[in-house]
Amino acid sequence: MNMQAPLQVSVRTTCPYCGVGCGVLARPDGLGGAEISGDPDHPANFGKLCSKGSALGETLGLATRLLHPIVRDTEGKLQRASWDAALDKVANGFKATIEQHGPDAVAFYLSGQLLTEDYYVANKLMKGFIGSANVDTNSRLCMASSVAAHRRAFGADTVPGSYEDFDEADLIVLVGSNAAWCHPVLFRRMMESRSKRGTRLVVIDPRRTATAEEADLFLAIAPGMDTVLFSGLLADLADCHTLDFAYISAHTEGFEQALARARQIAPSLESVALQTGLSRKDILTFYEIFRTTKRVVTAFSQGVNQSAQGTDKANAIINCHLATGRIGRAGMGPFSLTGQPNAMGGREVGGLANQLAAHMNFVPADIDRVGRFWNASAMAKREGLKAVQMFEAIERGEIKALWVMATNPAASLPRAAAVADALRKLDLFVVSENVIANDTVASGAHILLPAAAWGEKDGTVTNSERRISRQRAFLSVPGEAKPDWKIVSDVARRMGFEQAFSYSSAADIFREHAALSAFENEETRDFDIGALKKIDDEAYDALEPVIWPRRLKDEQPKTRFFENGGYYTANGRAKFVAPETPKLQGETSEEFPLRLNTGRIRDQWHTMTRTGLSPRLGQHLPEPFVEVNPGDARRFSLTDYAFARVRSAHGAAIFRVKIDEGQRAGSLFVPIHWSRTNTSMTRPGDLVAAATDPFSGQPEAKATAVTIEAVGFASFGFVIACKPFSLPESSYWTRVTLEGGEGALFAGNDGLAVWREYAARNREPSTEIIEYDDEKRGVYRVAHIAGTRLTFSLFVGSAESHMTWDAVRQMLSRQRIETKDRKLFLSGKNANGLPDTGPVVCACFGVGLHAIRDAIETKNTHTVEQIGVLLRAGTNCGSCKPELKRILQDVRTPQTV
Ligand code: SF4
Repeated sequence: MNMQAPLQVSVRTTCPYCGVGCGVLARPDGLGGAEISGDPDHPANFGKLCSKGSALGETLGLATRLLHPIVRDTEGKLQRASWDAALDKVANGFKATIEQHGPDAVAFYLSGQLLTEDYYVANKLMKGFIGSANVDTNSRLCMASSVAAHRRAFGADTVPGSYEDFDEADLIVLVGSNAAWCHPVLFRRMMESRSKRGTRLVVIDPRRTATAEEADLFLAIAPGMDTVLFSGLLADLADCHTLDFAYISAHTEGFEQALARARQIAPSLESVALQTGLSRKDILTFYEIFRTTKRVVTAFSQGVNQSAQGTDKANAIINCHLATGRIGRAGMGPFSLTGQPNAMGGREVGGLANQLAAHMNFVPADIDRVGRFWNASAMAKREGLKAVQMFEAIERGEIKALWVMATNPAASLPRAAAVADALRKLDLFVVSENVIANDTVASGAHILLPAAAWGEKDGTVTNSERRISRQRAFLSVPGEAKPDWKIVSDVARRMGFEQAFSYSSAADIFREHAALSAFENEETRDFDIGALKKIDDEAYDALEPVIWPRRLKDEQPKTRFFENGGYYTANGRAKFVAPETPKLQGETSEEFPLRLNTGRIRDQWHTMTRTGLSPRLGQHLPEPFVEVNPGDARRFSLTDYAFARVRSAHGAAIFRVKIDEGQRAGSLFVPIHWSRTNTSMTRPGDLVAAATDPFSGQPEAKATAVTIEAVGFASFGFVIACKPFSLPESSYWTRVTLEGGEGALFAGNDGLAVWREYAARNREPSTEIIEYDDEKRGVYRVAHIAGTRLTFSLFVGSAESHMTWDAVRQMLSRQRIETKDRKLFLSGKNANGLPDTGPVVCACFGVGLHAIRDAIETKNTHTVEQIGVLLRAGTNCGSCKPELKRILQDVRTPQTV
């Protein structure tokens, strides 16, 4: 299926971003791009897409793509190579390392961005033929604590419900989840339930997020104290006689111990209030709503998982559902929202170091079964190293050869700078990637293998509700890129495993994966898609989204587990887990008095290698920022929109200051997306400690002890250009993709002379120059115009000159610069009717903050719906609706002086 689809024929595929797993219709334009819309027939989204999904068509360009194999030569230079040469080098390198140092000296680091078929082959090679389980994934950073909690409670990594439960719930509790930004289409579905059946929403989060803005009850819990709140809930449910003893006695064990522990952790309402920082009234209200509402879904995400006690937190939540029998029934259950598009597929194939394959584990019977199925030559016998441990082993020199596929650990792992340094120590460092540059590639990769990207590859992904969907190719594979499964199979064959890796298509691999799931299963394992093990190529191509298990071809889809017990533990009973008393790892101190919380923003994905290519997504929040509570801002002498350095024991990074009432006092929040590839001084991963959960190995990315200080710069400005450009190394800068070129916002201490020379260096011959130069005021503005088009512009000032950024960036895509536009470069003021709409709020229609405020102030606008009618904002994906509501509140609330 690598042929380009005929023009105007839509291909049904799946969004490559979050775990909602929305169906997408991609209509190729014949020029390498495609029109994107939501698939109305996909049961995850019924045609809706969020801002990221809607902008997928803007991310298909080849400018940043790795298109040919590249190998580092003996002088250390990266040189283009043939596939044969590159693959031989990879295979021989791994073989030599294994011969000399043993199988545990090699490792694979995979990604929730890979398709299930890619994951399956990599997992099989490492665990069945290399003989090590050192194969882990960036999903470790995302939802490993949920996996561990499921396995402890249910005996298997089973998500017990489906998205339909959000339609049928009367209460949705979101814990540690900014679903409005991170799972936007599912969040809109929750909001529809509210409109249709009055479903109430409780949000539990240390930070007042866009999701919290929509809550009926928002509990601004102290970081890491979720276990206390849910232990208190379990005790309250017991005290108020709301337990389902019939379910507890028929289907569970360990209840008494769990309740006793809950009472120890949360001995009284006062104690819960003290530990969680919540008011007694709010706690009682939450407990009462939960107690009196039968149909409750408690959904949790990174705020629960990314914690040194994430597994206990998830189990404390699950305990409350088990104790009330609210599991596996319509509108009820604990629900882990996965972050990545195929984190679930990775879990299904066993692509985590502590899983084996197909929901089987490192126990003798499973090792023997999988070994026989694979006809494995060297089965791994024990668990491998989880992500953080894996990179620590590289740091110590114990792992000597590493293959990173489709992820960017030098930016995303805790202690990212130390990870980048560790990578340079490897004897063999292989990277399979879509992009030619990211922080990991820059950390001394020896061999770069060009992988096919979204839109070019075929396979399957599984979303948060266990629904397997096809990703289908709709573009030709560019250059010499290949699907990941093919690259891994080619290496495996060169390592001598010809027979076991002789796949000719993704469908081949899927059939084997399905067959393994059913192999000697007899309903003893939850993951079973045996009905698909003989699927032919045509049926695989046409496969409709299917929720597992699917044992038999014609069986009714089983969307829920455990209504009548049937857990995957040895005795078939669920296990209540008695959690430990929660305590954040790493103390705050005089030097590091604050806690750092990290997370996602609405319009970017991971380290921005794809979403960063979209001009419209770049306009919402174009720069890395740190959210600070007003009290902390005063304490640390920080000013809104000025700069600050955040520092931990592991590193430092520069951010714009954003003073926000919703930010908890004593905590800072920074988004994870920026890296050293698109900024000069900001890589949030540098700051994060490597403390991990003892069961899941997931790092605590939400509570590193840090400090913050104001950073003064002498000059500020921006550059926009129609061609790529570099910036002085001494400056702070952030790159932003623009329509018609790219831009950078910067600040620094260089004098105007440096910038004049910089502008001159960037001038194309025969361009017209418009220039304003005021040495005394420290202001320099210049525009280069070729014919009627702006090709380059630089604004530098001693005060912020960003007020014109939004006006100037829009000129880059215009065919013609008008006289009034020219005046802007001279006056520096946007007083000539130029469309300065302000920072973009609605990415779908490019509606800016100024335009929205103006509509509210001057056009008698009182509701989000009225804003939609006037400006279209919020009428497509709806991701910006919470922000629109907040702007309405801000404008309409009388200011106190
Ligand atoms: Fe993609 Fe948005 Fe759907 Fe997530 S919610 S799968 S990012 S379209």
